[in-house]
Amino acid sequence: MSEAVIIEFSRKPLWKRSMAVHEAGHAVAAWLNGAINIEISLADEFRIAKGSSGKISDDCRAVCFHDTYNARTYILVDMIILFAGVMAEHLYSDEDPKILLKKSGRGDAVDIQKLLDEHRQSGAIEDECQALYGRAYSLSLELVKRYWWEIIALAKLTENFNYIPYNKIRSLLGMFPSMNQGFNILKELEA
Ligand SMILES: [Zn+2]
Repeated sequence: MSEAVIIEFSRKPLWKRSMAVHEAGHAVAAWLNGAINIEISLADEFRIAKGSSGKISDDCRAVCFHDTYNARTYILVDMIILFAGVMAEHLYSDEDPKILLKKSGRGDAVDIQKLLDEHRQSGAIEDECQALYGRAYSLSLELVKRYWWEIIALAKLTENFNYIPYNKIRSLLGMFPSMNQGFNILKELEA
């Protein structure tokens, strides 16, 4: 008679799943808008998240670093990327994005306001600021809906690591034909 031993390894994810989905939402939106150097980093016990080359974000739970270059539409593009965290969380948990902007997306809401201030300072009137906000909000939601499975794939990877460097993000997202960075995502979303 032989004895069989089954050893089961279980690994508790380091992240709450909704947080992984949130950061993956930012990362996929950044990727589709042509951003490079995308990294996802989980904050330490002092709420500081570190990226490569000395990048630091403080007072946060997690962060998605990226570089965008589209100068002409950068306010709209940056806003879409900022909204994408709460939009992804909204699809996952069904919680209202407006409520999420006061909770997990608090930092994003602050950055969105900074972009609106910048828009105001460049001469935009209040109606134009509201229109830009509304446009970024709905385009971001549309993006997250269209690329939901790609976000889930990255969230699954994110869930088990406290840091995902750009080369890993690139090799994962680069595998999907849908993640081709060559097309104009804004045009696609507005079509
Ligand atoms: Zn966020």
